[in-house]
Amino acid sequence: SKGQGGNHHSFYTAEMGAQAVEHLRMEGALQRALQRQEFLLYYQPVVDIGSGVVSGVEALLRWQPQDRPMVSPADFIPLAEETGLIVPIGDWVLETAMRQQVAWREAGLSPVRISVNLSARQFLGQDVAQRVAALLAGTGCDPAFLTLEITESVLMENPAAATETMGRLAAMGVQLAIDDFGTGYSSLASLKRFPIHSLKIDRSFVMDLTRDADDAAIVNAVIALAHSMKLNVIAEGVETDEQLAFLQRHGCDQMQGYCFSRPVEPGRIEAMLQPAKNFH
Ligand code: C2E
Ligand code: CA
Ligand code: CA
Ligand code: CA
Repeated sequence: SKGQGGNHHSFYTAEMGAQAVEHLRMEGALQRALQRQEFLLYYQPVVDIGSGVVSGVEALLRWQPQDRPMVSPADFIPLAEETGLIVPIGDWVLETAMRQQVAWREAGLSPVRISVNLSARQFLGQDVAQRVAALLAGTGCDPAFLTLEITESVLMENPAAATETMGRLAAMGVQLAIDDFGTGYSSLASLKRFPIHSLKIDRSFVMDLTRDADDAAIVNAVIALAHSMKLNVIAEGVETDEQLAFLQRHGCDQMQGYCFSRPVEPGRIEAMLQPAKNFH
């Protein structure tokens, strides 16, 4: 009836109004978080499966509000994307990670590859190559030990623009990785056009590797094809020794996961890193 239609209409309006209010509240909170320096980076070791050596780390953003529990990036990055705040937040992440790489080098540790996640808006919506060049120059970070991670879906959103931007980043000596590989719809063959160095197999495939024959077959195929394209393969979300043994058997190059370490504060990474060979 007409009455019900009216109710439906006002119901949706109220719902959307509440959402808009929550949206604004969060936007303000994120803006204040930047000003108050409530963001920090955790680092998760990336381990060479062959040698067991920690060869790099992935920087993972955390938000620690003053008097509330830590907020996971999954809970604020989508909003930061929508509002554009991801650009200043992402700049802060890039600069902080680059400074950390320099600090570890200056502490006499072997060069540590730092991987940084780039969001869609950061990668496609601003001149990220120019930002990275400026930050490299400003921090003294070694581009040969910096990897930028872009998800498969972002890459496929605008392949032409992505190719151009990646070409500029690669020309600076920065490495590029495809994150969450397998969750989008690109074929491995379509990746040939991008100047990438590594593929990260999404955790959803690793999770059921030892129970689900399809996932095992997918992981095997990705490793084999990636190697035939001379790409480095990293498995995400490795939690069990069985998963690790499988990946080792099938020649996966590197892994990240709780079976080795969760993401931790930078101070806890130092103990996992080797001193540089020429340092005594
Ligand atoms: P991602 O890039 O795929 O990062 C891997 C996520 O898997 C991290 O979650 C990590 O803590 C989690 N993880 C690692 N090993 C395991 C494991 O063995 N088991 C399980 N269950 N999880 C594992 P986190 O830190 O909550 O980050 C979630 C997502 O937020 C990231 O996914 C990334 O897409 C995004 N993100 C994090 N930091 C940044 C950032 O600085 N910028 C941007 N744009 N996005 C970020
Ligand atoms: Ca990542
Ligand atoms: Ca990932
Ligand atoms: Ca993932």
